[in-house]
Amino acid sequence: MKETWQEKARGKRAGKGVNMFKAFLIKYAEIGVKGKNRHLFEDALVHQIKVALKRCEGKFFVHKTQGRIFVEAEGEFDFDETVACLRQVFGISGICPVVYAEDEGFDKLAERIVEYVDKVYPDKNKTFKVNARRARKDYPKESMEINADLGEVLLNAYPEMSVDVHEPDIMLNVEIREKIYIYSEIIPGPGGMPVGTGGKAMLLLSGGIDSPVAGYMIAKRGVKIDAVYFHAPPYTSERAKQKVVDLARIVARYAGPIYLHVINFTDVQLHIYETCPHEELTIIMKRYMMRLAEKLALDTECLGLVTGESIGQVASQTLASMAVINEVCELPIYRPLIGFDKQDIVDVSEKIGTYETSIQPFEDCCTIFVAKHPVTKPNPKYIRRHEEKLGEKMDELVKKALETEELIIVE
Ligand code: ATP
Ligand code: MG
Repeated sequence: MKETWQEKARGKRAGKGVNMFKAFLIKYAEIGVKGKNRHLFEDALVHQIKVALKRCEGKFFVHKTQGRIFVEAEGEFDFDETVACLRQVFGISGICPVVYAEDEGFDKLAERIVEYVDKVYPDKNKTFKVNARRARKDYPKESMEINADLGEVLLNAYPEMSVDVHEPDIMLNVEIREKIYIYSEIIPGPGGMPVGTGGKAMLLLSGGIDSPVAGYMIAKRGVKIDAVYFHAPPYTSERAKQKVVDLARIVARYAGPIYLHVINFTDVQLHIYETCPHEELTIIMKRYMMRLAEKLALDTECLGLVTGESIGQVASQTLASMAVINEVCELPIYRPLIGFDKQDIVDVSEKIGTYETSIQPFEDCCTIFVAKHPVTKPNPKYIRRHEEKLGEKMDELVKKALETEELIIVE
């Protein structure tokens, strides 16, 4: 297998166990974060990075200076693990591994640059540009002068290299601060907005493929999520519930800790089953899920509900059905997958690591109480009339379901 530049730079193959990178510069998209909200965005990002790095070995110092966020390792750390963690933090658009050094004069800096290029780029047949930035104006050379002088040093050291100021293969960034930071590579981050900058929403999380992806997508836009799972023992097994907890745990890697509310839905479901026409079961059940989810959402300061529905996937996901489902809630229902084909959803679930868990074959409650021919164009008048038959008994069952909720904090 070909050795990557990272392996070279870390001296892994050489068995030196040396990691030349001691820090990461975090790049983030700036759209929408200019002006007075910018520091909120940055503080949230710093916070999320700190939370994510708790999962990694090593100690890290995360700080922001002059429009830059740095992650500095204090002592030994695992490069791959750290990068993998950072790649799960929404708001990060790029991760630049940084070599930093004390300022020991220009000659020493030149030496370090030559050494850096040698380690990171074994193949010297490349064009480059030096991009110096002085955050400290007492440095004896100006940026332009640093660019020119370091360029010359590199050309002398590596005659195969050449300068291209427009589209260089290597953009060699040199930032002069208290210390001197050198970086040139950008590992892509997940993009999005830091979780917590967009309020909080309640995700209806089932054991399927779709809802974990919906949760991921809404969290990616900066929304913190709580989740609710409607459990129907003994029709759904403990293992089906465990599967939902496992899915929540995977989503939590990106979205942060998730408060998962498990609601025992069996009695509500049985009462609907015994009272209403079977072709309307799914719709009426969904309406009760929404009513319960909305109550939980209002109690926990959530500003909306989130589902994994997409148009036309099943009978309850036609526009007509979703309109009848929406009718019972005042909170907005967000459906981030609404226009996605199933394959697109599967692709995301594979990318984020929920797919393998989602396809484990445990029933979720909807698959047990489904009719052979569910309505695809429910008539809201009939639905309401049939729900009326559920009577006061239903109010009590709903109350009891809420009172007996189990809260699982998934980290
Ligand atoms: P998923 O793959 O997310 O299970 P699905 O394709 O199976 O979705 P439905 O069963 O119609 O479709 O569910 C639509 C949405 O309703 C789900 O994406 C989820 O948000 C919510 N939902 C369904 N069942 C449950 C449940 N038992 N607990 C919580 N939410 C549920
Ligand atoms: Mg499902």
